[in-house]
Amino acid sequence: MLVAGNWKMFKGPRETVEFLDSFEPPAGVDVVVCPPFVSLPAAVGRGVPVYAQSVHWAAEGAFTGEVSAGMLRELGVEGALVGHSERRQHFGETDESVRRRCEAALEAGLAVIACVGETEAQREAGETEAVLERQVAAIPFHDRLVIAYEPVWAIGTGKTATPEIAQEAHALIKALHDTQVLYGGSVKPENAAELMAQPAVDGALVGGASLEAESFAAICRAAVT
Ligand code: PEP
Repeated sequence: MLVAGNWKMFKGPRETVEFLDSFEPPAGVDVVVCPPFVSLPAAVGRGVPVYAQSVHWAAEGAFTGEVSAGMLRELGVEGALVGHSERRQHFGETDESVRRRCEAALEAGLAVIACVGETEAQREAGETEAVLERQVAAIPFHDRLVIAYEPVWAIGTGKTATPEIAQEAHALIKALHDTQVLYGGSVKPENAAELMAQPAVDGALVGGASLEAESFAAICRAAVT
């Protein structure tokens, strides 16, 4: 089981240190945190592996605002999220750019959590399977890569996929790509155990509930079977 905390654009270096000083990851589960870029140096070396929230495909160059895999490795960062739906929705991330970011990160030695998931409109139109097939087809196979299924309608909305919906989507993804699949979308201490008890759910990608050390620790404990 892997539980990853995506802090999005929350927590500068000071709050990052405060969080990690008070956070006790339980034994028996792999835990990572994904702070904003500026907080990565403060997070590294505090007992929890650190992933970035994105990574560029080039080693260096004229890409204002971006950060390369080599730069992250130099800091001691161990992995990166790629293709989070907020990047797809607000920053023009495409299946092709997701593929390029994944490949560069893996090549540089980072681990990757590659995110996929359908919007509410796509689910209502019966397109979930086609969307997941298209998104998953862009993701390379690698033993350092796991996929996160994050239905867009469940992210930050308080609407969690039922365990049955999660199980069905995870089983589909696993049939396409033989890897661990994390569930993400309003995971909380109250629903984490039931979601992670599904046979095709291999952990969780947690946004809002990862911002508070105690609630994130409770979710991590729910992953210990
Ligand atoms: C996320 O940011 O990946 C996420 C799933 O957010 P939340 O848990 O807040 O829905």
